[in-house]
Amino acid sequence: MPAIGVLALQGDVREHVATLTGLGVEAFGVRRSSELDRCDGLVIPGGESTTIAKLARIFELLEPLRERIGAGMPTFGTCAGMILLADRIVDGTAGQETIGGLDITVRRNAFGRQVDSFEEDLDVRGLPEPVHAFFIRAPWVEQVGDSVEVLASAAGHPVAVRQEHLLATSFHPEVGGDARVHGVFVDMVAGR
Ligand code: GLN
Repeated sequence: MPAIGVLALQGDVREHVATLTGLGVEAFGVRRSSELDRCDGLVIPGGESTTIAKLARIFELLEPLRERIGAGMPTFGTCAGMILLADRIVDGTAGQETIGGLDITVRRNAFGRQVDSFEEDLDVRGLPEPVHAFFIRAPWVEQVGDSVEVLASAAGHPVAVRQEHLLATSFHPEVGGDARVHGVFVDMVAGR
């Protein structure tokens, strides 16, 4: 049974732990590097990317996260977590840091004020039925590198991507009780 950590500095940690536990995975919050060491895979949740980045620096997790992710640890970022995995941000705050690793440019709060938050049935490559996706002040992907596969798009922009051991969604698959996207990630961690 793989051990999957959920970065627990800020954001909707509990929902991810519950979804992963429901899939039969050992899931736990990660706040220190000793907990990161136990992870076969990591989820970076939604929340506020600027806050999570600042706390990661304060908790001395930023460099350990960069090392583990750079060394191939499967990692799944949702919403703010997608921003934290991105190599490049548009509309970040001044000096906003990311963990990086995922060769994408992401636009924060991309869908704008009008559609700040919305739900949509989304076709996701590899899943036979659409996912009912919840977008909450979500980013979208503006540009992807050659090794990035686009798994889903909304409003003409990628909102789910994969690059080798990295998976990221603009939406919140931990909301709504559909565990299939987490299932894709658990398969990545288990090497299936
Ligand atoms: N807008 C948030 C950010 O910039 C992300 C929102 C979310 O994770 N639901 O980090």
